[in-house]
Amino acid sequence: MTIPDRLLLGPGPSNAYPEVLAALGRPLVGHLDPEFLRILDETSDRLRTVFRTENALTLPISGTGSAGMEACFVNLVEPGDTVIIGVNGVFGERMCEVARRCGAEVIRVEAAWGEPIDPQALLDAQAAAPHARLVAVVHAETSTGVRSDVAPLRALGDTDTLLLVDTVTGLAGIPVEIDAWGVDACYSGTQKCLGVPPGLAPVTFSDRAVERIRSRVTPPQSWYLDLGLIGDYVGAARKYHHTAPISMVVALHAGLGVLLDEGLEASWARHAAVGGRLQAELETLGFTLLARDGHRLPQLTTARLPEGADEAALRRTMLERWGIEVGGGLGAFAGTAWRFGLMGHGARERSVTTVLGAIRELQASGEMPTA
Ligand SMILES: *Cc1c(COP(=O)(O)O)cnc(C)c1O
Repeated sequence: MTIPDRLLLGPGPSNAYPEVLAALGRPLVGHLDPEFLRILDETSDRLRTVFRTENALTLPISGTGSAGMEACFVNLVEPGDTVIIGVNGVFGERMCEVARRCGAEVIRVEAAWGEPIDPQALLDAQAAAPHARLVAVVHAETSTGVRSDVAPLRALGDTDTLLLVDTVTGLAGIPVEIDAWGVDACYSGTQKCLGVPPGLAPVTFSDRAVERIRSRVTPPQSWYLDLGLIGDYVGAARKYHHTAPISMVVALHAGLGVLLDEGLEASWARHAAVGGRLQAELETLGFTLLARDGHRLPQLTTARLPEGADEAALRRTMLERWGIEVGGGLGAFAGTAWRFGLMGHGARERSVTTVLGAIRELQASGEMPTA
């Protein structure tokens, strides 16, 4: 059986950089081999550059972005803790569920689908519940295509409440400034704007967060994601905890190399340019952009199809006729909208031209309504 070659323009995974696919084909080395440990250390250094942080505890967690989410919550939250979570889509909801399973008391700060979380509302919620251990927010909501502002939450640095940020879709696609924004804990994923297959979750923790983990009364509920134990492998002790996903670390190392060769700012600019063009052209084709203007992610666009379109059937046609994957809408946007991802290696003019060309053909043939 042959695995088809697709143009992945949905919410993730995105197409991997060619250098990453080549790295995946390298022979295995052992997870305690000095050469592998050098690659692991260099990967963490590269992650510090991409996260814009000096945080010592910066590493790729084994597992996809959700493992990064779990790692943050199980290490930072103890049963009975109060946490404040911004909810404006699927991934904010998921954070609430993960926190609840850690035994947390969750205070939700909500915004409608397509709207950003108001940072002042999070700060007000913290002021009303200063005992809260954590404020958590999704920087780039992949379910809606909305960016929420994180920088104003820096004010939490004057309180005992930590700031946790999900930047699974943000990292490398739009500016992320861990140190400048005072973020205490952050997780990402490899298969969105980093251009690497799914399988690792880059995370970073401030000294404040590390201190919080050290002073826990109860051990983290998860043995596998216990950062104290994982730290003994990625740190100087090099003590076996679990076998690192070696090939994925090698692939991430290669992907971060491509990114840093291009330059982080150049990557942000590339995503901004192609996302802006796609969004402008979709409107001329009768699509309606669903994320609030000014808070639209260039790397993830939610758009309602022209009135009367059968989104599921047309999405299948895109895949079967041209090998183009786009995503369906979720939640409030299910059944009427598509999610277009222009991420990592896929964030190219040729991706925009190809997907718009396919839509124009569907409209010319009458399979998709125009306006
Ligand atoms: C994709 C995504 C996740 C989950 O990542 P997985 O790799 O699917 O586990 C979490 N948060 C956001 C914002 C995402 O886009």
